[in-house]
Amino acid sequence: MSDSPEAADLPASAGWSFETAAVQSSIPRGLGQTVGFPIHAAAAFQFDTLEQAQEEFQNNTGLSYARLQNPTVRALEGRITALEGGADTVALASGQAATLTAILSACRAGDHVVSASSLFGGTTGMLSNILPLMGISATLVDNTPEAVRAAMQDNTRLVWAEMISNPAGDIADITPLAQTAHERGALLAIDNTCGGVGFLCRPLDHGADIVAQSLTKWAGGHGSVMGGSVTVGARHGLSRNPIYTGGGETSVLKVRGNAALAWRQRWLGASQLGMTLAPHSAFLIAQGLETLALRLARECGTALELARWLQAQPGVGQVSYPGLEDHPFYAQAQRYLNNGCGAVLAFEVPDPAAFLSRLRVLRVAPNLGDVRTLVVHPWTTTHGRVPEAARHAAGVSPQTIRMSVGVEAVADLKADIAAAL
Ligand SMILES: *Cc1c(COP(=O)(O)O)cnc(C)c1O
Repeated sequence: MSDSPEAADLPASAGWSFETAAVQSSIPRGLGQTVGFPIHAAAAFQFDTLEQAQEEFQNNTGLSYARLQNPTVRALEGRITALEGGADTVALASGQAATLTAILSACRAGDHVVSASSLFGGTTGMLSNILPLMGISATLVDNTPEAVRAAMQDNTRLVWAEMISNPAGDIADITPLAQTAHERGALLAIDNTCGGVGFLCRPLDHGADIVAQSLTKWAGGHGSVMGGSVTVGARHGLSRNPIYTGGGETSVLKVRGNAALAWRQRWLGASQLGMTLAPHSAFLIAQGLETLALRLARECGTALELARWLQAQPGVGQVSYPGLEDHPFYAQAQRYLNNGCGAVLAFEVPDPAAFLSRLRVLRVAPNLGDVRTLVVHPWTTTHGRVPEAARHAAGVSPQTIRMSVGVEAVADLKADIAAAL
C-alpha cells in the first residue's frame, strides 16, 4: 500500500498479529471515515491537470482507470499483504486468474515450470493444457525437494507447489524448495489457498517468492464470492530472468527495481489480461477475512476430531488428514503449520453415490472454505478431466470423498455421516 494516495492515513500494520491485521488493516482512522470498507463503484478517476494524468499513465502508482486500480480492491490488497507478510498484492477475479498471472510473471515461450503433482484440478489443467499454447512446458513430480531438484532444467523459471494440497494434504517443504529454485535462478510460487491467507502458514516467511491463492475459499468464507490474489515478497532474484533483464537500461528490473515482480503481476493480471476483481467482490472478501481466524481455527479442530472419528467407523476406508500421525506429511505439517492442519480431509467409502445421496446436513458442492460443510466426489467432478494416473498422484481414488469442514456443531456432522454410512 506504500504508494497509494491514502497510505498516510492508514495505521501501520507491521507487527500486528493475524487477528488484529484481519480487522484493522487498510481502514483509515479519522473524523467521518467509514468503520469498514466503502465500496467504490467506479470505472475511472479524475485528474486536475494534464501533467497528473501523464505522470499516472507513465507510472501506474495511483488511480486512473479501474481495470488497473480501485480503492476498494486496493484496500483488500493491503490487507492481504499484511496477512501474508508480503511486499505487495494484486487481487484478481478468481484463483485461476491468480495462477495464470503468477506463472506468466516468471515464464515466457520456451520456459519451463516444475510443479508438485498433487494439485487442484484447475492448476493441473492450466499447466498441461493452457500454458503449452503459449510455449511454456511443465513437469509434474512427487511433492519432495529431491524430485523437484531432479526435474529442474536450464529453462526452468518457476517451481510451483500447494501449501496444503487438496485433497491429499501434502505439505510443501518450502525452505528446501526455495533453495532449489533460487540456486537455478528460478522463483518459488506457493498456492496458499488451503493455508488460509497466512493464518495456517505464511510461505513468504519461509523463502517463497510468490503466494498465489483463491480468495473464493476461506477468505470469502461464505460461498458467496469469487476472487484470487498474488502476493510477492520483498526480495527475489530476478537477475537471471530475461523477462526482467531484457532491454538493457530500460529493462523492467532497472526501471522498477524491487517493485518489478509486483508491478508485473498487476500489469499482466489486471491491466493487460483484464482479470480485474470487482469492488463489490473485494468488499465481500475483505469482510470474510475479518472472521477467517475464528472460522478456520474452529474448522481445523472439527476436521481433526472428524478425521479421528472416521478412522474408527466401520466401512470407512483410508482417512487422509495431515493432522493425523499416520499421514505421510504429518511431520512437515507440524513444522510449517500454525493454528491447525487445515479444514479439508478425504476419506474412502464403499459406495460414494449412495453415501452422498443420504446426507441431510452436509451438502454436495464443489467448493472449499464455506462456513457450511461441503463434500464432493473428486474422481467424477473436480478431478474428472485429469488423466487417471494424475488423479491417483493427487490422492484421488474412485472411493474418495473430499470434505471441507464448516462451522456446524461436530455432533450434528457425525450423526449425519454415520446415518449416511
Ligand atoms: C479453488 C482453487 C483454485 C482456483 O480458484 P478459483 O477461485 O476457483 O478460480 C486454485 N487453487 C486451489 C488450491 C484451489 O482450491
